[in-house]
Amino acid sequence: MKAPVSEIFYSIQGEGIFCGVRQLFIRFSGCNLDCWYCDTEYSERCIDYTSNKELENPVDLEYTQRVIDSSERIHSVSFTGGEPLLYAEFISQLEKTRVFYLESNMTLPEKAKLVRNFDIVAGDLKIREAVKENYDEIYERTVKTYRILKNSRKRLTFSKIVLPEKFDEDEVVSCAMGIKDYVKCFVLQPVFGSDVQNILKLQEKMLEFKDARVIPQTHKYMGVR
Ligand code: SF4
Repeated sequence: MKAPVSEIFYSIQGEGIFCGVRQLFIRFSGCNLDCWYCDTEYSERCIDYTSNKELENPVDLEYTQRVIDSSERIHSVSFTGGEPLLYAEFISQLEKTRVFYLESNMTLPEKAKLVRNFDIVAGDLKIREAVKENYDEIYERTVKTYRILKNSRKRLTFSKIVLPEKFDEDEVVSCAMGIKDYVKCFVLQPVFGSDVQNILKLQEKMLEFKDARVIPQTHKYMGVR
């Protein structure tokens, strides 16, 4: 089995409640959404920075498993993208020899059903302002995906909301209410470099029903990948 991977590397987790932990990142190519602030670059090649190798795409399962098994002093393996759930079948075949951490846009419920071997799920909750069209359908799929990969005794699931300076506060609160029972907490993440006053007001409202933390993309401040 194979999947398109754009890069494999060690770094620190720069977002969410696990900020600062060292991870092995496996970044898949391709996404089913098209957010305006997306900074993911796509590449025909896969660079494995852990061994400075350039690989042919798609990358095979055995190679990926070997990289995971040889990783040392990491908190977890982050499956990121792009959208890793596009390759749920591939990930479900990997043996979980490390802690598995998923970074997902949470809009592919039919794929989420195929892979439940994640210990940590860092999911997105997209706001209307982030996506270009079909927001209501995207939100409906988001709720379904969170229901499948919900926070439990075996899995820690939290939700990240990327916020520009201006957004519809009432709608964000209402969308967050729709998934609050499936997550441990919310992370309100300002778009890099933007003013956070409205986000602080939103946090105050959200704290009425769930833990909500304001955490920026720390890796960007440090200038690391
Ligand atoms: S979901 Fe993530 S990878 Fe996909 S377009 Fe949006 S920001 Fe980019």
